[in-house]
Amino acid sequence: MREIETDYLVVGAGASGMAFTDALLANSDARIVLVDRRHRPGGHWLDAYPFVSLHQPSANYGVSSRRLGEDRICESGINAGFYERASAPEICDYFLRVLEGDFAHSGRVRFLGMCDYRGQDVDGHHVVSLLTGADTVIHARTFVDATYVESEIPSRHQLSFTVDEDVRLIPPNDLVDLAEPPGGFTIIGGGKTAMDTCTWLFTADVDPDRIRWIRPRDAWLFNRAWVQPLDLVGSYMQMQARWVEAAAEATDGRDFARRLEAHDAFLRTDADVEPRLFRGATISTSEIESLRSIEQVVRKGKVRHLGSHRIVMDDGEVATEPDQVYVDCTAAGVRSTVKQPVFAPGRITLQYVTIGFIPWSAATVGMVEATRDDVDEKNRLCPPVTFTGDIDDVFALAQGGMTGVFARAAEPDLAAWTDSCRLNPASAAGTHADDPQVVEAFTSLATHLEDAMRNLSDHVARPVPAQDRSLAPVFDQTAS
Ligand SMILES: Cc1cc2nc3c(=O)[nH]c(=O)nc-3n(C[C@H](O)[C@H](O)[C@H](O)COP(=O)(O)OP(=O)(O)OC[C@H]3O[C@@H](n4cnc5c(N)ncnc54)[C@H](O)[C@@H]3O)c2cc1C
Repeated sequence: MREIETDYLVVGAGASGMAFTDALLANSDARIVLVDRRHRPGGHWLDAYPFVSLHQPSANYGVSSRRLGEDRICESGINAGFYERASAPEICDYFLRVLEGDFAHSGRVRFLGMCDYRGQDVDGHHVVSLLTGADTVIHARTFVDATYVESEIPSRHQLSFTVDEDVRLIPPNDLVDLAEPPGGFTIIGGGKTAMDTCTWLFTADVDPDRIRWIRPRDAWLFNRAWVQPLDLVGSYMQMQARWVEAAAEATDGRDFARRLEAHDAFLRTDADVEPRLFRGATISTSEIESLRSIEQVVRKGKVRHLGSHRIVMDDGEVATEPDQVYVDCTAAGVRSTVKQPVFAPGRITLQYVTIGFIPWSAATVGMVEATRDDVDEKNRLCPPVTFTGDIDDVFALAQGGMTGVFARAAEPDLAAWTDSCRLNPASAAGTHADDPQVVEAFTSLATHLEDAMRNLSDHVARPVPAQDRSLAPVFDQTAS
């Protein structure tokens, strides 16, 4: 049995594990063992559907020390006017370069791919090779769980409904392998994967009338125009200002969302249906417009059985035809988590500590870990931001995010690091201090911050009444 001594054992080489490792390397002399059951870094992007790209600009994705892409504003296509967004192959290639270039050159990172983490006993942490079965025992000062916000994706998740044998149900990945045009496309799921799939079908000239969309629930989405970095950072600062104004004035999560919608900062697919889902996904107004051209929207709850002639859902059935292709978009994507501290003695659980942007969160945790010793102090600087998937919980999410921002901003070293970190979408605000949008945003933030924190605390102390909540389908992992 092989044994390895190290300072940190990081399990998970997706965006979380990679961004954390990069920040820790840059700010300490720690040795790190990085383990993943996949064969290379990149996490869910390695199995993503081929037409996926980042929802956010590449400028703020990946690891802090290496740029992803060229920070270019696109001139054409559905992303025209916005900063470029990397495709899955670009992201996977990028993470491989980080591992084989930057991490390898440091001499302090060892990657064990195709290795499953099996837990800890008196001997140490056990990692088993999925190719040879060999057990490696790792003795680490700190264990880092970089799987806690692991993505749930269509090509790897478990279906929550039954399917007749002769029904053709595929993950979006397999759409590119169709050899014949089907009678029609039935897209199952209400989240961003379903939206990406419909948008891709439109770009391939599929008529909206050939698409039927089974949408158990609707989602609130960030308007892509408002989350732009670098030379367009004024937009992101405007988003922050409107967010804090909503936090100061809203009476509940739904009111919060409607206030952001009034400024075009939040979008929804159907103007007549109030969304309850919120996972922080981003979309453009032009994508929303084209999605609205789909008229066959089925709202009868979640699918329970997919037959060749009938689709059975929670709230009813619809007739169907055997020549349909059904596209499974029901994986959760960003999974729901429960609130738990990021830091415990000898253990770190990587999760969101910023509102959205997992790489920035993981890098922030890495920087705090590298520069602070006391567990309570580290947790004070990194309160968790928990995405439950329910807009009713947005007060708690906002409170966690804003408390962390203030705590870190009050520490000169962390404030300087945050300002210079490429993963921080607001990092260019300082160099665009004369941009009228930035000026207005800072003025508004100064006016509303105190009221916002008070209002958030009041609401978090007084959660949504149970009877109100029961009106909403409680978040679960199959309603993406
Ligand atoms: C389609 C899609 C688009 C997205 N776009 C964005 C975006 O634009 N911006 C953004 O901030 N977020 C986005 N997200 C959210 C996404 O969750 C993060 O971007 C990020 O990629 C998640 O990284 P992760 O490391 O937390 O999880 P993953 O990428 O899922 O990586 C977790 C890793 O842990 C490994 N693992 C799990 N268990 C074990 C074990 N026992 N032993 C060994 N290894 C293990 C897995 O093999 C996996 O490689 C998107 C998500 C999806 C699904």
